[in-house]
Amino acid sequence: MAVTRTFSIIKPDATRRNLTGAVTQMLEESGLRVVASKRIRMSREQAEGFYAVHKERPFYGELCDFMTSGPVVVQVLEGEDAVRRNRDIMGATNPADAAEGTIRKSFAESIEANSVHGSDSDENAANEIAFFFAKDEIVG
Ligand code: ADP
Ligand code: MG
Repeated sequence: MAVTRTFSIIKPDATRRNLTGAVTQMLEESGLRVVASKRIRMSREQAEGFYAVHKERPFYGELCDFMTSGPVVVQVLEGEDAVRRNRDIMGATNPADAAEGTIRKSFAESIEANSVHGSDSDENAANEIAFFFAKDEIVG
């Protein structure tokens, strides 16, 4: 299995409850390595651009409100089959459907405030990493 990279966000509901370390520990214990990390306050423009694929969804405006409501931690994660590995430890979008032992089952407040983002394909991972990180900020 190839070592690949994915993009993660620890969302405002998790930073507000001081869960940055707890979430990162679960990512690390799943076999992923944090090769870039920074705490930022996302601008409206960044949130709208990042979630542009969801522009037509009814929750788009509220999702952008939520993602700009507090600090987030954006990260690049590296590991074998990183996209799938991260999606597995994240759990289902709706915490009510998330499996035991996943981040969303453990910490998410709602389908919107669900504590973490993770890329859903290698191609999107590359685009999302480039959206937030310069090459020299990633140290593997
Ligand atoms: P995922 O984050 O699991 O890849 P999506 O890409 O479908 O899920 O959705 C992006 C984000 O939009 C979700 O993580 C969640 O914060 C929010 N979201 C998804 N579905 C809903 C919904 N029905 N109502 C409110 N927010 C939602
Ligand atoms: Mg998604």
